[in-house]
Order: sequence, then C-alpha cells, then structure tokens
Amino acid sequence: MKNPESYLSETAARLRPSGIRKFFDLASNMEDVISLGVGEPDFVTPWGIREAAIASLEEGYTSYTANAGLIELRREISAYLQKKIGVKYDAGQILVTIGASQALDLAFRAMLNPGDEVLIIEPAFVSYAALVTLAGGKPVTIPAPAENGFKITPEQLESAIGRRTKGILICSPNNPTGTCFNKEELAALAEVIEKHDLIVFSDEIYGELTYDGEYASIAAIGGMKERTIVISGFSKAFAMTGWRLGYAAGPKPWIQAMLKIHQYAAMCAPHMLQHGAIEALRNHEEDVKKMRDSYRRRRNYLVAALNKIGLDCHMPGGAFYVFPSIQKTGLTSEAFAEELLKKEKVAVVPGNAFGESGEGYIRCSYATSMEQLQEAIRRIERFVGTLLPGKKG
Ligand code: PMP
Repeated sequence: MKNPESYLSETAARLRPSGIRKFFDLASNMEDVISLGVGEPDFVTPWGIREAAIASLEEGYTSYTANAGLIELRREISAYLQKKIGVKYDAGQILVTIGASQALDLAFRAMLNPGDEVLIIEPAFVSYAALVTLAGGKPVTIPAPAENGFKITPEQLESAIGRRTKGILICSPNNPTGTCFNKEELAALAEVIEKHDLIVFSDEIYGELTYDGEYASIAAIGGMKERTIVISGFSKAFAMTGWRLGYAAGPKPWIQAMLKIHQYAAMCAPHMLQHGAIEALRNHEEDVKKMRDSYRRRRNYLVAALNKIGLDCHMPGGAFYVFPSIQKTGLTSEAFAEELLKKEKVAVVPGNAFGESGEGYIRCSYATSMEQLQEAIRRIERFVGTLLPGKKG
C-alpha cells in the first residue's frame, strides 16, 4: 500500500483545520486557563427542556421521525418565526436539521452548481467558506471594515457581484464581530440582491441574542422571502449546543431539495431531542430572556474594560463575542493569542481564523461568568501593559 494520505480525496486533503479548534486544543492541555475562546453558552440547557427530552425517552420515542422533522416541531418553528421575524412559513417550508451547521451544508449543496460563487462578508464564521467549497462552490469574500462597524455597504456588495455569483451569506448577529444589520441596512442590501437576482443564505443562529433595538431578518424585507433560506437553531438561544438541533426555512422547492439530500445523508434529527426543542419553543421564552440579560451585562462590562486597557473595541449589537483591535500592540493576531495564552493563560481566538480581514483583531467570547471575565481582564491588562507604551505592566 502507498502512504495512507495519498488515498484521500483532493478536497479533503486541501481542507484546512479550523483555526478555532487549534486554540481550543492548545488551551485544554493547560491548567488554570480562562477561556474566552469558545463559541457556546456557559449555561446548561434549561431544566424543563431537558425534562421533556427525558420524558420522551421514557415514553419510548426512539424511532426515526419524518425526514423533515416532527410535524409538531415544524409547526412550533413556523409559529416562532412568524412571531420573531414576521414571516409566515408553512410546515412544508421548514426542515429540522442536525444543528444550523447541517442546514448550512444542505443549503449550499442544494443550491450551488460547480463554480457558483457565494459572497461571504468577512470576518466570517469559519464554516462558510469550507462548506461552500465542499458543495463545489466558490467562496468570495467582501471585507467588512471595523470603521464601518464590520458591515458592508450596498456599493461594496454590487462591486463584488460577478457573472458566477449565485448568492450571499448574511450572518446577523455576526460571529465573530457581534455586528447586527438593522432593517434599513438590510433593505439597502436587498435592493442590490434583487437587482442581480441573487439568493440569500441568512444565518440567524444568534437572532435571540441581540441587545439593542429590534431584531431584523432580511427574509422580512419585501421580495426577499422568495429568495432567502433562513437558517437557525437551538444551540445559542436555548443553550443547546450539544443537542445538535437546527432548522432551515425557505421557498418550498429549495427546502424539498435540501430534504432530498438530508434523507440520504442523515435521515432525520434525533427523535427524543426534537421533543425537547418543542418544549423550548413552547415554554422557555423567559429563560432566553434571562440569559440574554446576563450576556448584555457581560458585553457592556467587557467592551468598556477592553477600551480602557487600550484595545479599541466597538460595541457589538448581538451574539456573545467582542472583536477588539490589537493593532496598537504591533503583534499579529496569532502571535498575540499565542503569547497571551502562554504568559497569562487566557485563551482567545486570533482574528485571522475568520479570514484575512480579521487580521489585527482577536475574538473574545463573553459566554463565561462575570468573575472569569474580570480575571481575564486583569490578565489581559497585565499582558498588554508589557506591549503598549505608556501602560504599565
Ligand atoms: N452559524 C454560526 C454563525 C455559528 O457561530 C455557529 C456555531 N458556532 C453555527 C452556525 C452552528 O450552530 P449549530 O450548533 O446549530 O450547528
């Protein structure tokens, strides 16, 4: 036999491991590390939701469900979306998936032909470019500068559109910047999207975690429902990352195409856990609110503290990340993250893990306790003090 690696597909061999996991793994081998690296809630799933899943097991719901997911769950998702984003989807326009991750994967695989381009606003969640590539498409990035609050303008969008552009991915609130697009900004982008007949992959996984003003979905803008796949899930809003439950909603033929792939690749999402998701949507708005309030307090603290230390940090509208600039320190984002971990045992993610436009920044997650955040700030201040002139170490 030849070298085992030589049997791999070229696609798999070329795929780069996630820059987030690398730091995660480094940190997990050290003691007394404060991690601002992870992208998941520090809360445990509210008890009532867990109880519903336990009851479901006790009652013996151990079979497959309909490939698209339990009809009761799809009805709940439909009612939820109508209330949350003001868009009406019937159950046939909704697909329950294994996390928002699988919904993204299915959406790209169902919609892209080889060479089709998807515009990705960068800094961006690490999975998008990889999933577009795996689906045979080509990710094309549009840099969203800090000066513009990590948003893009309609002009930027228009100039990025080429002959092969099929669609755009919009993630609002954004991972890693926390940036939210408001209704007017989305409407301005929608005009360009419609003019060029693009489709939209709208990642709304952080939709419940917004802290200032109303949440806006591009699907709710006139003419957009017909060209948008809304992707969301339970991971962030209900602290259910390990449950692996998400969903997609959109035009019926598109959802049906995603369902075709899903029924071969995964069959369905886990039955008993879908009962937990029904309970989450029916009875746990109050829990979501409590978690949101807690994240808001931490965000306010962290942004103020980072700016005070001298790391310029814009105030993000949502998610649970801040994205401060480390440019003044003269280090690359990777060197900053590595040194900070080694010297002060604080784990953050270097901005370049989210694409080239993330260079010069780090992502800090505030999905950790206030005490941990305060201790992290003490350590970061000490570290930055050794790098910035005029700050004592
Ligand atoms: N989209 C974004 C922007 C995310 O940050 C994440 C999780 N980190 C996902 C999608 C995937 O979420 P899920 O757990 O539902 O697969």
